[in-house]
Amino acid sequence: MMSMKTALVCGAGGFIGGHLVKRLKAEGFWVRGVDIKAHEYAETEADEFLIADLRDPVTCRDATDRPFDEVYQLAADMGGAGYIFTGDHDAELMHNSATINLNMVQACRKRGIKRVFYSSSACMYPAYNQEDPDNPNCAEDSAYPAAPDSEYGWEKLFSERLYLAYNRNYGMECRIARFHNVFGPEGTWDGGREKAPAAICRKVAQACSGDAIEIWGDGLQTRSFLHVDECIDGTLRLMRSDFAGPVNIGSDQMVTINGLVEMIARIAGKHIPTHHIPGPTGVRGRNSDNRLIAQRLGWAPSQALEMGLAKTYPWIARQVHAKAECVPAQQKFNIGAREVK
Ligand code: NAD
Repeated sequence: MMSMKTALVCGAGGFIGGHLVKRLKAEGFWVRGVDIKAHEYAETEADEFLIADLRDPVTCRDATDRPFDEVYQLAADMGGAGYIFTGDHDAELMHNSATINLNMVQACRKRGIKRVFYSSSACMYPAYNQEDPDNPNCAEDSAYPAAPDSEYGWEKLFSERLYLAYNRNYGMECRIARFHNVFGPEGTWDGGREKAPAAICRKVAQACSGDAIEIWGDGLQTRSFLHVDECIDGTLRLMRSDFAGPVNIGSDQMVTINGLVEMIARIAGKHIPTHHIPGPTGVRGRNSDNRLIAQRLGWAPSQALEMGLAKTYPWIARQVHAKAECVPAQQKFNIGAREVK
């Protein structure tokens, strides 16, 4: 182990953290994961996995009891629109995530760990620049005057500044990415914290062809979605560069939510009408502006959205069927089954 590179992944029991651990192991790192819970969908590949609460400064100190080459701070109290935009969890999520970041950056400084990655979010961009679904502005330098549309976004902005302040005052080398909607297998797909691609995959998997699924809002709001493998590529590229960020890591293939439903339905081979209901939808338009990352790191996502969805839908459909939440279409609609034959 002494000759191996070492990494600490905070939030290793989560979606992106779980994938990051796998990638670091594949690269030959010795990896310690920390999370308040075990990974729900996969056995961790970390060499050590601490189940511990990073809101506790003692946990952060214990997690950094050796000089890691790379620390990835992904732990956050987070979820999709149904969790972060209702207002019901604001105090809790701000307190939890800010406390984790305050404790972790301080623990790293005390241990002399310089290279720390922090995952911010596109949710920190001002709402006033994201009112036109066809033309949102998410360039990195559009962040101020700040006006995120959620407390989740305000906490991300605060923590970005925290890591940058540690760079400035303590000579640390923190790296900050603003992730834009990341999706893929082994992420939350039910329970209220899932994000749009996973929620839509689940609804489509549960529906029989011809059944309408419920969509929050008119479905004309726009977003872009990045497959998790690409997110890890961009993250490692930034972490090992001389550029601190903040920089967008996202896809710039913008689609409407209705368009996303159509893509997933096509992959599932089902006809899925939409039934639009009121719900938390967030800003009207959002897209990753990838000019800065292209210029500074020579990075851009390489896969079309459809390719990532084609890898994600089957995984979510399997989870749905394993939970027996779905009566397979062939059983429910005998006529459809006969037609298919
Ligand atoms: P996730 O919820 O799957 O992972 C976060 C992990 O942090 C969870 O496993 C959770 O248990 C852990 N955690 C929360 N509180 C903790 C605590 N007190 N102590 C220890 N662990 C704790 O989310 P994710 O999608 O993997 O996101 C990872 C990071 O990327 C987060 O910081 C998130 O805000 C950011 N991000 C994600 C997206 C996305 O689309 N997934 C977009 C923008 C930003």
